[in-house]
Amino acid sequence: MQLNEIKGIKEKRLEELNSRGIFTPVDVLNYLPVKYLDMTRLVSPCDFLDGEEVLIKATAVGEPQNLFYSKVKTTKISLNCQGTKLSAMWFNQSYMKNNLKNGETYLFYGKIKIKDKRITLLSPMFEKEDKVSRLFGIFPKYNKIDGVPSKLISKMVEEILQKEELDSVIPNDLCQTTLKEGYFNAHFPTSIEKAGEGKRRILLENMTANFLANKVLNAGLTAKSHVYKDVDLVSVLEGILPFKLYKSQIKAILELKRDMLSPTPTNRLLQGDVGSGKTVVLLAGCVLSAMSGYQSAIMCPTTTLAKQHYLFIADALSKLNITCALLTGENSNDGNTLCKIATGDCSVVIGTHALFSKKTAFKNLAFVGIDEQQKFGVMARANMIDKGLNVDVLTSTATPIPRTLSLITYGELNVSYCERESRISDIETYVISENKVADMYKFVEKQLKEGAVGYVVCRKIDTTEKSEEEGVEEKYKELKKVFKDYNVSLIHGKQSAAERKEQTEKFLQDKIDLLVSTSVIEVGVDNKRANIIVVFGAENFGLASLHQLRGRVGRNGQKSYCVLVCEKFSKLAKERLEYFKNNTDGFKIADYDLMTRGGGDIYGFNQHGKSFFNTQDFFSYQDVKLAKEWADEIEKRGIDEKIASKLLIKNKEIKKIALN
Ligand code: ADP
Ligand code: MG
Repeated sequence: MQLNEIKGIKEKRLEELNSRGIFTPVDVLNYLPVKYLDMTRLVSPCDFLDGEEVLIKATAVGEPQNLFYSKVKTTKISLNCQGTKLSAMWFNQSYMKNNLKNGETYLFYGKIKIKDKRITLLSPMFEKEDKVSRLFGIFPKYNKIDGVPSKLISKMVEEILQKEELDSVIPNDLCQTTLKEGYFNAHFPTSIEKAGEGKRRILLENMTANFLANKVLNAGLTAKSHVYKDVDLVSVLEGILPFKLYKSQIKAILELKRDMLSPTPTNRLLQGDVGSGKTVVLLAGCVLSAMSGYQSAIMCPTTTLAKQHYLFIADALSKLNITCALLTGENSNDGNTLCKIATGDCSVVIGTHALFSKKTAFKNLAFVGIDEQQKFGVMARANMIDKGLNVDVLTSTATPIPRTLSLITYGELNVSYCERESRISDIETYVISENKVADMYKFVEKQLKEGAVGYVVCRKIDTTEKSEEEGVEEKYKELKKVFKDYNVSLIHGKQSAAERKEQTEKFLQDKIDLLVSTSVIEVGVDNKRANIIVVFGAENFGLASLHQLRGRVGRNGQKSYCVLVCEKFSKLAKERLEYFKNNTDGFKIADYDLMTRGGGDIYGFNQHGKSFFNTQDFFSYQDVKLAKEWADEIEKRGIDEKIASKLLIKNKEIKKIALN
């Protein structure tokens, strides 16, 4: 089944879906709701919490009124809910006035705001009590995709679940629920618990599949044909770099070299905080490879990052007369560059995914460094093997996977650690609630006056049909007014590549004081002078992501500030952010994050159906362990061609090996 065979999916929508990384029916199924609205029960006024979303039954007392405060037209109506007085408000929707009648009883679903004991429902959805058609059950909310309404996503999921065979890699006797049930529960849950079960089932499938794919790939990598020279990498590198290597870098480089000189292909993970000096270790692999007469490549997640690396690495390698090229989407059709790579004229290639596109051919690729890999890198590895069989692979990541977990998650990998030796710059972290934002702006302005440069990051998960980008644009407009004497700019994923590039370059050239963005700045944009970062909706981030964001400031060891603005101060959110504030060790933070995610929280939302974490933050120690056990068991029973094809591994070599 192809996506365009689904009713309602024409070219334009297909394009939108593709731009979100949705190409196949299974991709649609994996586009999981980010939150669930719980309309299974009515909430009483005594249980109201500021900021929570609730379903209530209330009677209109008095006629609705249209009020004109400032520019915003407000529609307001007084309500009686079990004897408690409250009001509902809508903004710029004056027609609402005609939809409500004095004395009628309605169901309302919306966000509760409590201020000075006054209770207000903000822009609630509502239906007459005796004509309920939408306000019941569990309502899944998807991140908005332009031109593809939520309803259509649900329809697509329904059709796919009806028509597609969905085989699991996990045999029935190991896991009783089918994958189909998992997807069904995640998309059409009958309770919040069911939604959690569904997401857990899907995650278990994906983790088990990843473990298996790694096993298959490892089994395929027996002896390698290239042999490296025994080069004194530490002296060579110190000869071309403007600094002495850190102890941890030396250790990581020696570990990498030992792997590379051994006959089995390297599959090593390099972990270390942002700024811990991982690039040099990737460079070491390239140097060893080039000095032994082979080609190597470094794959970066973004063009910006590839360019930054290229400048640094090409400069260093020129001192050894090693040739270097940059290959990104921008020049991936450039015959000259492709030719140099194919003939081996160019020894080291820095680039993005373009490195492994069909057009790119290497003469004798031996080493690949993958920079800033955030997710499991299995598919990247599978693609690479097509380019030069049995390459040595070093993957670097700044996401601090807890040590305990990484042993299991990366059971098939060896891990090296990088640590910055100089004192980690002191970054002062503040946790504030929304009502302190005005004070915070004054503080930021004072810093800007003194020459500060920084980031403002927003992550909103709302009931309103707003995309993350729209939320950020609003914040940007606000900040432009607040800091009118400074250069405030905006960057997000929906801008054109050219626009993003322009913003990035301006920021790096210090032409921008405050860069407002979605969480996309996590990797890529790196202004070493940045010393202030403000994160709105901080409680919506996993601590590992916050740690990465905080690592964006103080890169030169300068005094820096990280302000976390919390929109909903639940007890758990407060505790988590306080812990984060008082700790700087990424591994400790990751371990804490893991420990504090009990029960339903693990799968991205709590009992109120509120989304909590980024997908890459979903980890439960027990489940990773379980998936690993299953993968071991499946391996014991034999990985056959059927499983290999379920793993989407299309490489013929691998299929052959999998059959053995
Ligand atoms: P990461 O990729 O781990 O985030 P980078 O490799 O980008 O970190 O290094 C961060 C900064 O530290 C860079 O400016 C780099 O030149 C510098 N650096 C790396 N190693 C050393 C070292 N041994 N001594 C001093 N500075 C270093
Ligand atoms: Mg890096």
